[in-house]
Amino acid sequence: MTVPVRGKCIVMRHDVDELAWNALKMAQLENKLGIRATYFFRIVKQSNVPEVIAQIVGLGHEIGYHYEDLSLAKGDETKAIKTFEDNLNYFRKYYPVRSVCMHGSSTSEYDNRLLWKNYSLSDFDLVGEPYLSVDFDKTFYLTDTGYAWDGGKFATRDVVENRFGLRFHTTNQIVDCIKSGAFPERAMILAHTLWTDSRLQWDWLHLREFLRNHVKLMAKNNPGIARLYKKIVDLYWK
Ligand SMILES: [Zn+2]
Repeated sequence: MTVPVRGKCIVMRHDVDELAWNALKMAQLENKLGIRATYFFRIVKQSNVPEVIAQIVGLGHEIGYHYEDLSLAKGDETKAIKTFEDNLNYFRKYYPVRSVCMHGSSTSEYDNRLLWKNYSLSDFDLVGEPYLSVDFDKTFYLTDTGYAWDGGKFATRDVVENRFGLRFHTTNQIVDCIKSGAFPERAMILAHTLWTDSRLQWDWLHLREFLRNHVKLMAKNNPGIARLYKKIVDLYWK
């Protein structure tokens, strides 16, 4: 995931928050297109599916750890660094992981990046953490967080200032921009695994994410809704 200094470069990043089998479909498609991407897996069962990880490695993609140890340890730094190391070693059974990337844990009061307050990536033989290692003044960041290319207002922690003056709503707008030559030479594209070729799953996810985005916005100003939303989220990931 190291970004070279010169020339055109796209880092294709997939955070496998859930629906790991969708990640495999994406990985197969990219493999056919000659694209090598980076798949960041969480330790939770919705993401950490051994058959999927092994097959994605087999397709020639890079694997990273999508860590959330500080929020899972409820801010206990000692516990979090221990589980971080254990989980990293677990994913290294599949691939020599050199990159990690924080999971936003939007309902948690703990920002997982704070794990690096007293530790450094090199302590774990790591070379990159997108939110810490990439200069987003020089690298355009395009993310589908919030279930849309312009869903930034729904993001809690996956927030990067856009200095490129570009904004997209549809994927076709991105394609047109690339064709016109106006797309930045260096970019990191984050696509989650909610992309699907099943119409039923697409409609269901569309409805779920629409509701979730609006509950997240309401929760910002309403502690009661925030507590209820956190309870539902905690139950879902259990
Ligand atoms: Zn995530």
